[in-house]
Amino acid sequence: MTELTSTDLDGEADAFRDECGVFGIFGKADAAAVVTLGLHALQHRGQEAAGIVSYDGSQFSVERHVGLIGDTFTKPSVLARLPGSRAIGHTRYSTTGGEGLRNVQPFFAEFAGGGFAISHNGNITNALTKQRELQKRGAIFSSTSDTETLLHLIAMSERELFIDKFIDAITQLEGAFSLVGLSGKKMVGARDPLGIRPLILGDLDGAYILASETCALDIIGAHYVRDIKPGEVLVITNDGLRSYFPWGELKPRFCIFEYVYFARPDSNLEGRNVYETRKMIGEQLAKESPVDADMVVPVPDSGTPAAIGFAQQAGLPFDLGIIRNHYVGRTFIQPTASIRHMGVKLKHNANQKAIEGKRVVLVDDSIVRGTTSQKIVQMVRDAGAAEVHMRIASPPTAASCFYGVDTPEKSKLLASRMSIEDMKDYIKVDSLAFLSIDGLYRAVNEPGRDSACPQFCDACFTGDYPTALTDRDGTETTRTLSLLAKHG
Ligand code: AMP
Repeated sequence: MTELTSTDLDGEADAFRDECGVFGIFGKADAAAVVTLGLHALQHRGQEAAGIVSYDGSQFSVERHVGLIGDTFTKPSVLARLPGSRAIGHTRYSTTGGEGLRNVQPFFAEFAGGGFAISHNGNITNALTKQRELQKRGAIFSSTSDTETLLHLIAMSERELFIDKFIDAITQLEGAFSLVGLSGKKMVGARDPLGIRPLILGDLDGAYILASETCALDIIGAHYVRDIKPGEVLVITNDGLRSYFPWGELKPRFCIFEYVYFARPDSNLEGRNVYETRKMIGEQLAKESPVDADMVVPVPDSGTPAAIGFAQQAGLPFDLGIIRNHYVGRTFIQPTASIRHMGVKLKHNANQKAIEGKRVVLVDDSIVRGTTSQKIVQMVRDAGAAEVHMRIASPPTAASCFYGVDTPEKSKLLASRMSIEDMKDYIKVDSLAFLSIDGLYRAVNEPGRDSACPQFCDACFTGDYPTALTDRDGTETTRTLSLLAKHG
């Protein structure tokens, strides 16, 4: 989900801030405790706030808090306020401060036919346009999140049955959405017609689970059943499962960046193991851009699987030349530029003993603003490396994501401002190479990028957006663009 109108801590909001994880379970005692564990496994998808809504057969209970899952939801007093055998949850990145809590999910609304809670991962690209239409019809919004638009569309639908209202609402949406909803009688999972963000179905002793990634099943010993299909609306009731495909068949465009960086390496998404895929990405990178060097060093943790693949392919020793402090969050999602700089120093330290005098190949998954690379390279040089070569396990990130990955606006992306040669000078390395887009496709076992018919959403690398971007391109352009400029 995305914030439509709020500002950042320092007024410099420049990112989408909508990495999210969703999880729900239907039919298990103490459901909220299970959701807590599932969300903990999905913590990498958003660390700023979390929420759980449970249902005990007669009433819904809602808890939403800023902070990590473990900060609040592990407390017995909080879990005691979330009774019932059905619950859904959400973990999100958000701005902190006054506006934070009202945008924390799941959202809950009392409709004419009963209560409904919803968790959303992704970004609705016509939410602002729809919001304006709804406001003209009298709707009052209580948050600045694109997800609330969906609740209003459901409320305004003239269809009879709730599931028809839900389908009526989501078929008016554009963009990326993996949704988990909970009503008095059902849990609903839905993916946008291109299946841009992941959503999987699991089973724990007969209780169905919906989750962003399979790692959230492993933590509770649940079984993977299948991925929710792109464009599928799956309804779970006491009577079992029922699927709807309101958009018909469309060619999927799963987010390739989930494989590059976003998903946890121990997850399996769309039939691929993320760790194995990252190793294959590293192998492909070594084939495309070999280096005469002494050792391969990952930028931990996100560069590690690709660095292992690179080292294996190149026949070079792999060593931990950079040590990461695990008690610092992802540096990228700190709110201000100065803190972001500080975060990099807090998070990584060069392992001098390992790299002194060596020709080092540094492998990281991506370069966004270039802040991390600049700092790390300097650190490795200060530790006495003889040469520093940088290999990036993805193509240059040259365009913003509008589908739910936290990305700065295009002008702040290093690759949109500089050639690779200039980037090499900027981060001060002896050589710099990125994986080619065809190489990335080969690493996920495709023959290459078919430009007439790409198999993935790779917009952050190619600028080829697979859905309409109505809020940017539509009639509301001027106002929308100024908001989007703020938010990514
Ligand atoms: P930067 O310092 O802006 O170039 O950020 C690059 C680093 O951020 C890389 O080491 C990536 O592992 C990480 N990264 C890339 N994309 C994201 C994202 N959307 N959210 C958080 N971290 C990211």
